Amino acid sequence: MQSGRGMTMSPIDPQDAPLIGTVGGEEPAAEQKKVPTFTILHTNDMHSNLIGVGPASEYSPMTLNDDRTIGGIERIASLIAERRKAREAKGPVLVLDVGDFSIGTPFGATHETGAELQCLSMAGYDATTFGNHEFDAGPESLAKAIAAAKKAGHVPPILAANTHIDGDDPGLSQFKELAQAELIRSHMLLERGASGSACSA
Ligand SMILES: [Zn+2]
Repeated sequence: MQSGRGMTMSPIDPQDAPLIGTVGGEEPAAEQKKVPTFTILHTNDMHSNLIGVGPASEYSPMTLNDDRTIGGIERIASLIAERRKAREAKGPVLVLDVGDFSIGTPFGATHETGAELQCLSMAGYDATTFGNHEFDAGPESLAKAIAAAKKAGHVPPILAANTHIDGDDPGLSQFKELAQAELIRSHMLLERGASGSACSA
């Protein structure tokens, strides 16, 4: 996957209507219909973009809503909260990040703090997984990030059905411990909705 700066969320709507534009946007007409829905909100390739990015020359810190700074985990968190609230009345909602959450900004240089994972957890993600860039600094480094996020009390469920950690490489030892503690797992069962609708992820 390519490194990128943009943060997007791409909901899938059964009425084939776009669900989101900006935080605070209005419900599309298709959402007014009483059709049972199952909503997946997802991000990918966030690449340590924990703060917004924009043209520095246009940055106006003393006034609001008049620069072109975009993204940032705070805005993602606001969008998740807004969309989850809007969609939960219509059916189950899953919020997933599908990897490459680390490496790409100066925050990536300190990814062993688990900052990206902590942000995903606090932003309300139900689960994340590994992209190829999570392994850029080796499995030991990734294991340190997960352990640090766990120690801080903010680690999202990490699903990895195609990551094989049964080799003899000593660099995998902490990884194996994390898997045994189910901080890394192949699957999980989530219950969503008033009727206890189950979603497997
Ligand atoms: Zn990527």
